[in-house]
Amino acid sequence: MISLVDLTAQYHSIKDEIDAAVLSTLESGHFILGPQVVKFEESVAAYLGVKHAVGLASGTDALVIALRALNIGVGDEVIIPAYTFFATAGTVMSVGAKPVIVDVDPQSYQIDVSKIEEAVTPKTKAIIPVHLYGHPAEMNPILEIARKHGLKIIEDNAQGYGAEYLGKKTASFGDIGCLSFFPTKNLGAYGDGGMAVTNDPALAERMRMLRAHGWKKKYYSEEVGYNSRLDAMQAAILQAKLPHLDSWNEKRRELSARYTELLAPLDIAVPVEREWAKHVYHLYIIRFEKRDELQAFLKQKGIASEVYYPLPPHLAEPCREFGYKEGDFPHAEKAAKETLALPLYPELTFAQQDEVIAAVKEFTGK
Ligand SMILES: *Cc1c(COP(=O)(O)O)cnc(C)c1O
Repeated sequence: MISLVDLTAQYHSIKDEIDAAVLSTLESGHFILGPQVVKFEESVAAYLGVKHAVGLASGTDALVIALRALNIGVGDEVIIPAYTFFATAGTVMSVGAKPVIVDVDPQSYQIDVSKIEEAVTPKTKAIIPVHLYGHPAEMNPILEIARKHGLKIIEDNAQGYGAEYLGKKTASFGDIGCLSFFPTKNLGAYGDGGMAVTNDPALAERMRMLRAHGWKKKYYSEEVGYNSRLDAMQAAILQAKLPHLDSWNEKRRELSARYTELLAPLDIAVPVEREWAKHVYHLYIIRFEKRDELQAFLKQKGIASEVYYPLPPHLAEPCREFGYKEGDFPHAEKAAKETLALPLYPELTFAQQDEVIAAVKEFTGK
Protein backbone atom coordinates (compact mmCIF):
# COMPACT_ATOMS: atom_id res chain seq x y z
CA MET A 1 0.00 0.00 0.00
CA ILE A 2 1.46 3.35 -1.03
CA SER A 3 -0.33 6.39 0.36
CA LEU A 4 -0.47 9.85 -1.18
CA VAL A 5 1.27 11.37 1.83
CA ASP A 6 2.64 9.82 5.02
CA LEU A 7 2.62 12.24 7.92
CA THR A 8 3.82 9.72 10.48
CA ALA A 9 6.99 8.99 8.48
CA GLN A 10 7.95 12.64 8.86
CA TYR A 11 7.08 12.67 12.56
CA HIS A 12 9.30 9.65 13.20
CA SER A 13 12.21 11.28 11.38
CA ILE A 14 12.19 14.26 13.81
CA LYS A 15 10.37 12.73 16.77
CA ASP A 16 12.77 14.00 19.46
CA GLU A 17 12.53 17.61 18.27
CA ILE A 18 8.73 17.52 18.02
CA ASP A 19 8.24 15.81 21.36
CA ALA A 20 10.50 18.37 23.05
CA ALA A 21 8.57 21.25 21.42
CA VAL A 22 5.22 19.83 22.57
CA LEU A 23 6.40 19.18 26.12
CA SER A 24 7.97 22.61 26.49
CA THR A 25 4.70 24.19 25.35
CA LEU A 26 2.79 22.22 27.97
CA GLU A 27 5.25 23.46 30.60
CA SER A 28 5.11 27.06 29.36
CA GLY A 29 1.48 27.66 30.27
CA HIS A 30 0.96 29.74 27.08
CA PHE A 31 -1.44 28.13 24.62
CA ILE A 32 -2.98 30.83 22.42
CA LEU A 33 -0.57 33.34 20.80
CA GLY A 34 2.19 34.20 23.33
CA PRO A 35 6.00 34.14 23.00
CA GLN A 36 6.18 30.91 20.98
CA VAL A 37 3.87 32.35 18.33
CA VAL A 38 5.85 35.61 18.22
CA LYS A 39 9.07 33.64 17.75
CA PHE A 40 7.58 31.60 14.92
CA GLU A 41 6.15 34.72 13.25
CA GLU A 42 9.65 36.22 13.29
CA SER A 43 11.16 33.02 11.87
CA VAL A 44 8.67 32.93 8.98
CA ALA A 45 9.17 36.63 8.22
CA ALA A 46 12.95 36.08 8.09
CA TYR A 47 12.58 32.96 5.91
CA LEU A 48 10.33 34.72 3.39
CA GLY A 49 12.15 38.05 3.51
CA VAL A 50 9.16 40.08 4.69
CA LYS A 51 8.79 42.49 7.60
CA HIS A 52 5.67 41.23 9.38
CA ALA A 53 3.94 37.90 9.92
CA VAL A 54 0.63 37.35 11.70
CA GLY A 55 -0.17 33.87 13.01
CA LEU A 56 -3.74 32.78 12.31
CA ALA A 57 -5.97 29.76 12.76
CA SER A 58 -5.90 28.56 9.11
CA GLY A 59 -5.00 29.45 5.54
CA THR A 60 -8.66 30.09 4.82
CA ASP A 61 -8.78 32.61 7.66
CA ALA A 62 -5.59 34.21 6.32
CA LEU A 63 -7.40 34.92 3.03
CA VAL A 64 -10.49 36.29 4.78
CA ILE A 65 -8.47 38.50 7.11
CA ALA A 66 -6.27 39.71 4.22
CA LEU A 67 -9.39 40.71 2.26
CA ARG A 68 -10.88 42.44 5.30
CA ALA A 69 -7.61 44.26 6.06
CA LEU A 70 -7.65 45.62 2.50
CA ASN A 71 -11.26 46.80 2.99
CA ILE A 72 -12.60 44.50 0.29
CA GLY A 73 -16.29 43.74 0.65
CA VAL A 74 -19.75 44.15 -0.82
CA GLY A 75 -19.77 45.54 -4.36
CA ASP A 76 -16.09 44.76 -4.98
CA GLU A 77 -14.57 42.32 -7.45
CA VAL A 78 -11.51 40.16 -6.92
CA ILE A 79 -9.73 38.34 -9.74
CA ILE A 80 -8.86 34.70 -9.07
CA PRO A 81 -7.67 31.76 -11.20
CA ALA A 82 -10.20 29.25 -12.55
CA TYR A 83 -8.33 26.25 -11.22
CA THR A 84 -7.74 26.32 -7.46
CA PHE A 85 -8.98 25.04 -4.14
CA PHE A 86 -12.47 26.38 -3.50
CA ALA A 87 -11.32 28.50 -0.52
CA THR A 88 -9.76 31.02 -2.92
CA ALA A 89 -13.25 31.76 -4.29
CA GLY A 90 -15.15 31.06 -1.08
CA THR A 91 -13.22 33.56 1.01
CA VAL A 92 -13.85 36.32 -1.55
CA MET A 93 -17.57 35.51 -1.36
CA SER A 94 -17.54 35.32 2.42
CA VAL A 95 -16.55 39.00 2.68
CA GLY A 96 -19.35 39.86 0.25
CA ALA A 97 -17.24 40.42 -2.86
CA LYS A 98 -17.50 38.75 -6.29
CA PRO A 99 -14.82 36.35 -7.51
CA VAL A 100 -14.02 37.23 -11.12
CA ILE A 101 -12.51 34.18 -12.66
CA VAL A 102 -9.68 33.99 -15.20
CA ASP A 103 -8.64 30.77 -16.94
CA VAL A 104 -5.28 29.12 -16.29
CA ASP A 105 -2.26 28.24 -18.38
CA PRO A 106 -2.91 24.58 -19.24
CA GLN A 107 0.72 23.58 -18.66
CA SER A 108 1.73 25.39 -15.47
CA TYR A 109 -1.87 25.55 -14.11
CA GLN A 110 -1.18 29.14 -12.98
CA ILE A 111 -3.46 32.08 -13.76
CA ASP A 112 -3.09 33.04 -17.44
CA VAL A 113 -1.54 36.49 -17.16
CA SER A 114 -2.53 37.37 -20.74
CA LYS A 115 -6.22 37.18 -19.72
CA ILE A 116 -6.16 39.17 -16.49
CA GLU A 117 -6.45 42.65 -17.91
CA GLU A 118 -9.68 41.95 -19.82
CA ALA A 119 -11.25 40.90 -16.49
CA VAL A 120 -10.50 44.22 -14.80
CA THR A 121 -13.54 46.50 -14.29
CA PRO A 122 -14.01 49.71 -12.27
CA LYS A 123 -15.11 47.44 -9.38
CA THR A 124 -11.94 45.36 -9.33
CA LYS A 125 -10.04 45.78 -6.06
CA ALA A 126 -7.52 42.94 -6.01
CA ILE A 127 -5.96 39.93 -7.71
CA ILE A 128 -5.33 36.67 -5.87
CA PRO A 129 -2.65 34.68 -7.67
CA VAL A 130 -2.50 31.10 -6.33
CA HIS A 131 0.88 29.37 -6.47
CA LEU A 132 -0.90 26.15 -7.28
CA TYR A 133 0.81 22.81 -6.58
CA GLY A 134 3.94 24.68 -5.46
CA HIS A 135 4.71 26.27 -8.84
CA PRO A 136 4.83 30.08 -8.64
CA ALA A 137 2.38 32.24 -10.56
CA GLU A 138 4.02 34.60 -13.06
CA MET A 139 4.36 37.55 -10.70
CA ASN A 140 5.95 40.34 -12.76
CA PRO A 141 3.10 40.75 -15.27
CA ILE A 142 0.61 40.47 -12.37
CA LEU A 143 2.42 43.20 -10.41
CA GLU A 144 2.49 45.34 -13.55
CA ILE A 145 -1.27 45.02 -14.12
CA ALA A 146 -1.93 45.74 -10.44
CA ARG A 147 0.22 48.87 -10.56
CA LYS A 148 -1.43 50.09 -13.75
CA HIS A 149 -4.99 49.69 -12.41
CA GLY A 150 -4.34 50.43 -8.72
CA LEU A 151 -5.17 46.90 -7.56
CA LYS A 152 -4.02 45.06 -4.45
CA ILE A 153 -2.38 41.64 -4.59
CA ILE A 154 -3.06 38.86 -2.11
CA GLU A 155 -0.92 35.80 -2.80
CA ASP A 156 -2.53 32.48 -1.96
CA ASN A 157 0.68 30.72 -1.00
CA ALA A 158 -0.96 27.81 0.81
CA GLN A 159 0.77 25.36 -1.56
CA GLY A 160 3.90 27.37 -2.35
CA TYR A 161 5.92 27.51 0.85
CA GLY A 162 9.56 27.79 -0.28
CA ALA A 163 8.75 28.33 -3.97
CA GLU A 164 10.53 31.13 -5.80
CA TYR A 165 9.79 33.44 -8.70
CA LEU A 166 13.00 34.81 -10.25
CA GLY A 167 14.91 33.87 -7.10
CA LYS A 168 12.54 35.55 -4.65
CA LYS A 169 10.21 33.67 -2.31
CA THR A 170 6.52 33.56 -3.15
CA ALA A 171 4.25 35.26 -0.57
CA SER A 172 6.70 38.20 -0.49
CA PHE A 173 5.51 39.93 -3.70
CA GLY A 174 1.98 41.02 -2.90
CA ASP A 175 0.45 43.41 -0.41
CA ILE A 176 -0.31 40.33 1.68
CA GLY A 177 0.82 36.71 1.37
CA CYS A 178 -1.29 33.93 2.86
CA LEU A 179 0.10 30.66 4.20
CA SER A 180 -1.58 27.47 5.38
CA PHE A 181 -0.08 24.99 7.82
CA PHE A 182 -2.69 22.30 7.16
CA PRO A 183 -0.93 19.02 8.02
CA THR A 184 -0.31 17.94 4.41
CA LYS A 185 1.12 21.28 3.22
CA ASN A 186 4.90 21.52 2.66
CA LEU A 187 5.22 22.96 6.15
CA GLY A 188 2.41 21.31 8.08
CA ALA A 189 1.25 21.55 11.68
CA TYR A 190 -0.46 18.77 13.65
CA GLY A 191 -3.76 20.56 13.36
CA ASP A 192 -4.94 23.69 11.56
CA GLY A 193 -2.82 26.82 11.29
CA GLY A 194 -2.18 29.73 8.95
CA MET A 195 -0.37 33.02 8.60
CA ALA A 196 -0.56 36.30 6.72
CA VAL A 197 2.64 38.17 5.85
CA THR A 198 3.18 41.73 4.68
CA ASN A 199 5.75 44.51 4.50
CA ASP A 200 3.17 47.11 5.52
CA PRO A 201 3.08 47.77 9.30
CA ALA A 202 -0.45 49.22 9.16
CA LEU A 203 -1.80 46.11 7.41
CA ALA A 204 0.00 43.91 9.95
CA GLU A 205 -1.57 45.82 12.82
CA ARG A 206 -5.03 45.64 11.27
CA MET A 207 -4.68 41.87 10.79
CA ARG A 208 -3.57 41.47 14.42
CA MET A 209 -6.76 43.28 15.42
CA LEU A 210 -8.95 41.22 13.10
CA ARG A 211 -7.61 37.92 14.45
CA ALA A 212 -8.77 38.83 17.97
CA HIS A 213 -12.22 40.41 17.94
CA GLY A 214 -11.06 43.74 16.52
CA TRP A 215 -9.05 44.50 19.65
CA LYS A 216 -6.04 46.73 19.82
CA LYS A 217 -6.50 46.87 23.58
CA LYS A 218 -7.98 43.69 25.06
CA TYR A 219 -11.80 43.80 25.36
CA TYR A 220 -12.02 47.17 23.55
CA SER A 221 -13.26 46.07 20.13
CA GLU A 222 -12.79 48.71 17.45
CA GLU A 223 -14.39 46.65 14.68
CA VAL A 224 -15.95 43.24 14.19
CA GLY A 225 -13.14 40.70 13.98
CA TYR A 226 -12.72 36.96 14.43
CA ASN A 227 -11.26 34.46 16.79
CA SER A 228 -8.47 33.30 14.49
CA ARG A 229 -5.25 32.85 16.40
CA LEU A 230 -2.41 30.44 15.86
CA ASP A 231 -2.00 28.34 18.97
CA ALA A 232 1.31 27.98 20.75
CA MET A 233 1.45 24.19 20.36
CA GLN A 234 1.27 24.43 16.56
CA ALA A 235 3.76 27.32 16.55
CA ALA A 236 6.24 25.29 18.60
CA ILE A 237 5.83 22.29 16.29
CA LEU A 238 6.22 24.46 13.19
CA GLN A 239 9.26 26.19 14.68
CA ALA A 240 10.89 22.77 15.08
CA LYS A 241 9.96 21.83 11.51
CA LEU A 242 10.96 25.06 9.75
CA PRO A 243 14.74 24.35 9.69
CA HIS A 244 13.93 21.15 7.75
CA LEU A 245 11.72 22.78 5.14
CA ASP A 246 14.41 23.46 2.54
CA SER A 247 15.74 19.91 2.67
CA TRP A 248 12.20 18.50 2.50
CA ASN A 249 11.48 20.69 -0.52
CA GLU A 250 14.73 19.48 -2.12
CA LYS A 251 13.58 15.88 -1.58
CA ARG A 252 10.27 16.74 -3.23
CA ARG A 253 12.14 18.24 -6.19
CA GLU A 254 14.44 15.23 -6.46
CA LEU A 255 11.57 12.73 -6.37
CA SER A 256 9.58 14.83 -8.84
CA ALA A 257 12.50 14.99 -11.27
CA ARG A 258 12.73 11.22 -11.04
CA TYR A 259 8.99 10.78 -11.69
CA THR A 260 9.25 13.12 -14.66
CA GLU A 261 12.25 11.32 -16.15
CA LEU A 262 10.58 7.92 -15.88
CA LEU A 263 6.97 8.88 -16.72
CA ALA A 264 7.54 11.17 -19.70
CA PRO A 265 8.48 8.25 -22.02
CA LEU A 266 5.10 6.65 -21.17
CA ASP A 267 3.20 9.44 -22.94
CA ILE A 268 2.10 10.89 -19.64
CA ALA A 269 1.95 14.70 -19.46
CA VAL A 270 4.31 15.66 -16.64
CA PRO A 271 4.54 18.95 -14.72
CA VAL A 272 6.48 21.89 -16.15
CA GLU A 273 8.81 24.22 -14.29
CA ARG A 274 9.00 27.56 -16.09
CA GLU A 275 12.45 29.14 -16.50
CA TRP A 276 11.57 31.81 -13.91
CA ALA A 277 10.24 29.29 -11.42
CA LYS A 278 11.43 27.24 -8.52
CA HIS A 279 8.74 24.61 -8.06
CA VAL A 280 8.41 23.01 -4.61
CA TYR A 281 6.04 20.23 -5.69
CA HIS A 282 3.41 20.44 -2.98
CA LEU A 283 1.73 17.98 -5.35
CA TYR A 284 3.12 16.00 -8.25
CA ILE A 285 0.48 16.31 -10.94
CA ILE A 286 0.29 14.28 -14.11
CA ARG A 287 -2.28 14.60 -16.85
CA PHE A 288 -3.88 11.75 -18.67
CA GLU A 289 -6.98 11.57 -20.82
CA LYS A 290 -8.20 8.29 -19.29
CA ARG A 291 -7.50 9.66 -15.82
CA ASP A 292 -10.36 7.92 -13.99
CA GLU A 293 -9.41 4.51 -15.41
CA LEU A 294 -5.79 5.08 -14.44
CA GLN A 295 -6.80 6.07 -10.93
CA ALA A 296 -8.96 2.96 -10.55
CA PHE A 297 -6.12 0.78 -11.83
CA LEU A 298 -3.66 2.30 -9.35
CA LYS A 299 -6.13 1.77 -6.52
CA GLN A 300 -6.38 -1.91 -7.45
CA LYS A 301 -2.60 -2.10 -7.11
CA GLY A 302 -2.72 -0.49 -3.65
CA ILE A 303 -1.47 2.88 -4.85
CA ALA A 304 -3.27 6.02 -3.71
CA SER A 305 -3.80 8.99 -6.02
CA GLU A 306 -6.07 12.01 -5.81
CA VAL A 307 -7.74 14.59 -8.03
CA TYR A 308 -6.94 18.23 -7.16
CA TYR A 309 -9.56 19.42 -8.04
CA PRO A 310 -12.48 17.59 -9.67
CA LEU A 311 -14.71 20.69 -9.67
CA PRO A 312 -13.39 24.11 -10.67
CA PRO A 313 -14.79 26.86 -8.40
CA HIS A 314 -16.94 28.45 -11.15
CA LEU A 315 -18.98 25.24 -11.41
CA ALA A 316 -19.43 24.87 -7.65
CA GLU A 317 -22.88 25.50 -6.21
CA PRO A 318 -22.05 28.74 -4.35
CA CYS A 319 -20.82 30.39 -7.60
CA ARG A 320 -24.09 29.76 -9.45
CA GLU A 321 -25.33 33.22 -8.51
CA PHE A 322 -22.68 34.75 -10.78
CA GLY A 323 -23.95 32.93 -13.86
CA TYR A 324 -20.79 30.99 -14.63
CA LYS A 325 -21.39 27.89 -16.73
CA GLU A 326 -19.72 24.87 -18.28
CA GLY A 327 -17.45 26.01 -21.09
CA ASP A 328 -16.50 29.36 -19.55
CA PHE A 329 -12.98 28.31 -18.60
CA PRO A 330 -12.00 25.40 -20.86
CA HIS A 331 -8.45 24.93 -19.58
CA ALA A 332 -9.59 24.64 -15.97
CA GLU A 333 -12.46 22.32 -16.92
CA LYS A 334 -10.17 20.06 -18.95
CA ALA A 335 -7.62 20.01 -16.10
CA ALA A 336 -10.38 18.96 -13.69
CA LYS A 337 -11.04 15.94 -15.93
CA GLU A 338 -7.41 14.98 -16.56
CA THR A 339 -5.13 15.84 -13.64
CA LEU A 340 -4.03 13.30 -11.08
CA ALA A 341 -1.71 13.66 -8.08
CA LEU A 342 0.66 10.75 -7.53
CA PRO A 343 2.12 9.80 -4.13
CA LEU A 344 4.72 12.38 -3.12
CA TYR A 345 6.22 13.33 0.22
CA PRO A 346 9.83 13.82 1.28
CA GLU A 347 10.10 10.39 2.93
CA LEU A 348 8.81 8.45 -0.12
CA THR A 349 11.47 5.91 -1.11
CA PHE A 350 12.76 5.24 -4.63
CA ALA A 351 11.49 1.65 -4.25
CA GLN A 352 7.96 2.91 -3.53
CA GLN A 353 8.24 5.35 -6.39
CA ASP A 354 9.37 2.55 -8.73
CA GLU A 355 6.24 0.64 -7.78
CA VAL A 356 4.07 3.61 -8.76
CA ILE A 357 5.90 4.02 -12.06
CA ALA A 358 5.68 0.30 -12.84
CA ALA A 359 1.92 0.38 -12.28
CA VAL A 360 1.49 3.40 -14.57
CA LYS A 361 3.63 1.65 -17.16
CA GLU A 362 1.54 -1.50 -16.94
CA PHE A 363 -1.60 0.56 -17.43
CA THR A 364 -0.34 2.51 -20.42
CA GLY A 365 1.25 -0.61 -22.00
CA LYS A 366 4.31 1.43 -23.07
C1 LIG B 1 -5.00 24.56 1.72
C2 LIG B 1 -5.38 25.70 0.88
C3 LIG B 1 -6.10 26.80 1.39
C4 LIG B 1 -6.72 26.81 2.75
O1 LIG B 1 -5.87 26.54 3.81
P1 LIG B 1 -6.47 25.92 5.16
O2 LIG B 1 -5.32 26.08 6.13
O3 LIG B 1 -6.79 24.50 4.89
O4 LIG B 1 -7.64 26.71 5.57
C5 LIG B 1 -6.33 27.88 0.56
N1 LIG B 1 -5.90 27.90 -0.71
C6 LIG B 1 -5.22 26.86 -1.24
C7 LIG B 1 -4.77 26.94 -2.66
C8 LIG B 1 -4.95 25.72 -0.48
O5 LIG B 1 -4.31 24.70 -1.02
